[in-house]
Amino acid sequence: MAKPSDTRTAGRKPVAKATRSSAETEKIRAALAARRDELRAEYDQTLSEITELQRDRLTDSAGDDQADTGTKTLEREQEISLANSILERITQVERALERLDEGGYGWCERCGNPIPVERLAAFPSATQCVTCKQLEERR
Ligand SMILES: [Zn+2]
Repeated sequence: MAKPSDTRTAGRKPVAKATRSSAETEKIRAALAARRDELRAEYDQTLSEITELQRDRLTDSAGDDQADTGTKTLEREQEISLANSILERITQVERALERLDEGGYGWCERCGNPIPVERLAAFPSATQCVTCKQLEERR
């Protein structure tokens, strides 16, 4: 008697990539570009705050006691780490734009479905659709 063949994986054929309309691609591009501009403005703002803190430190540190100087140094360090994380996000968005041009961006790496434009705009580094992400987090 022949063994029943294993049918468990039968329904899980690799998903053929759907195509995204060029209008949708344009929408993603616009969303990413807007996000990048936003981040750049935020970055510039942070940089000028750092410069200002630096200037403060140089000009009025004479009258400051040690605690004041310490606070200002901490503040400046926080601004710098903020600037670095913004820069990292800008890089992410720029990489996303490059991958978008190559057609390799915006697809869920688990199910192969297109990731909604809104999600990509909010999380340019998203590699999974919301459903798959939630499934993964539940594990
Ligand atoms: Zn998915």
